[in-house]
Amino acid sequence: MIRTRFAPSPTGYLHIGGVRTALYSWLFAKKNGGEFTLRIEDTDLERSTEESVNAILEGMSWLGLDYDHGPIYQTHRFERYKEVINDLMERGLAYYCYATPEELDEMREQQKAAGLKPRYDGRYRDFDGEPPAGIDPVIRFKNPIEGDVVIDDLVKGKVIVNNRELDDLIIARSDGTPTYNLTVVIDDWDMGMTHIIRGDDHLNNTPRQINLYEAMGAPVPKFAHIPMVLGEDGSRLSKRHGAVSVLQYKEQGFLPEALLNYLVRLGWSHGDQEVFTMDEMVQLFNLDAVNGSPSTFDTVKLTWINEQHLKMANADHLATHLAPFVTQLGCDLSQGPQLNRVADLLRDRAKTLVEMAQGATYFYNDFSEFDADAAKKHLRPVAEEPLQLLLTKLEGISDWQAEVIHQAINVTAEELEVGMGKVGMPLRVAITGGGQSPAIDQTAELIGKKRCLTRIGMALQ
Ligand code: GLU
Repeated sequence: MIRTRFAPSPTGYLHIGGVRTALYSWLFAKKNGGEFTLRIEDTDLERSTEESVNAILEGMSWLGLDYDHGPIYQTHRFERYKEVINDLMERGLAYYCYATPEELDEMREQQKAAGLKPRYDGRYRDFDGEPPAGIDPVIRFKNPIEGDVVIDDLVKGKVIVNNRELDDLIIARSDGTPTYNLTVVIDDWDMGMTHIIRGDDHLNNTPRQINLYEAMGAPVPKFAHIPMVLGEDGSRLSKRHGAVSVLQYKEQGFLPEALLNYLVRLGWSHGDQEVFTMDEMVQLFNLDAVNGSPSTFDTVKLTWINEQHLKMANADHLATHLAPFVTQLGCDLSQGPQLNRVADLLRDRAKTLVEMAQGATYFYNDFSEFDADAAKKHLRPVAEEPLQLLLTKLEGISDWQAEVIHQAINVTAEELEVGMGKVGMPLRVAITGGGQSPAIDQTAELIGKKRCLTRIGMALQ
């Protein structure tokens, strides 16, 4: 069975570059009937925070990237890591290194002065003397000295690294805590991972990890290293380019499936198709079509994709995501029409849920003033006669439906021998407070008869 994972370190917000990696791993598992695991890599006790763990969990849940296993916390697995370290020590595949930081600094300086690339020189690799006093040693892995490590990367192709370029990696710090390269290999092995899909910033760790798999006698999984996401200036996407945390996109009113659709296309393609439903993504995604070079994040395109998803989303789903934004504007959703109907009416006019919510307030909240410009243009003094005449007709409607309301507007315009706009616009300003709304008959239907009549009364005062 195909098994993939997303393994973030909880040291900050959930970065959208990380989300793309999570998405590719999730899609690959789903598409192949496999399993997806969420693993929290929290062994760096100083930098890991609970707040960041919560941001990861909230982000994954908002995105709908569900997992078959997890969240698994590495800090719960220290015993297991210790067991493997001991095993490597016993088998002579790892050793204590007593070099002090000062000693290592000096070593690196000398190497640099000799024009060499600084690397640990293996000075304690075969040490069997008396350990120097007062030093808590680190543990290093005995990396093979000869031969090549070959990575058949599913995105990058064949990558070959000679073992001479790899030094003896620290697998346990002097306080005994295990390091990333060790824990990641033990976990991916124990959790049966078949495909490691991750950012290509980890590509230089992979040969070291392959050596560790081999030393442990574990099967080596397949790797797919995904290029970075860049900002518009060509540097790695970061805070200074704008929002990079997934929850910021949530707050800005993007639908989760739109963000995922945007991210799936960032580095993967299926012909020239731009808009994908979640089901289509699962069906069509494959690693072969992942681009080997970096992609540039483009907010304009993301916004366009969001607009498309606002248009095509299921109305209940749309309402679920819209609700918090409308509530945030002070609206009580029990004091107006069903939000899914409002969302249906507004979906074609908004780029984000924030905009949509701004257009939804008059369905729930009464107002005490009309927008000054709109009122000047469409209400006073020009509209008294049409509004009065229309009001009488609307009062008589028992079946408060858009078509019937439409008819009333029509008849009023005919009686006054004016265009429909001369009746519709004053009505719009009267019942919505402003000059912008979806079709006025449908809007009036949803606002409801009682509220419409009261508001027209207010406009006539
Ligand atoms: N914890 C690592 C990171 O956040 C994950 C690396 C991996 O996927 O192997 O970068």
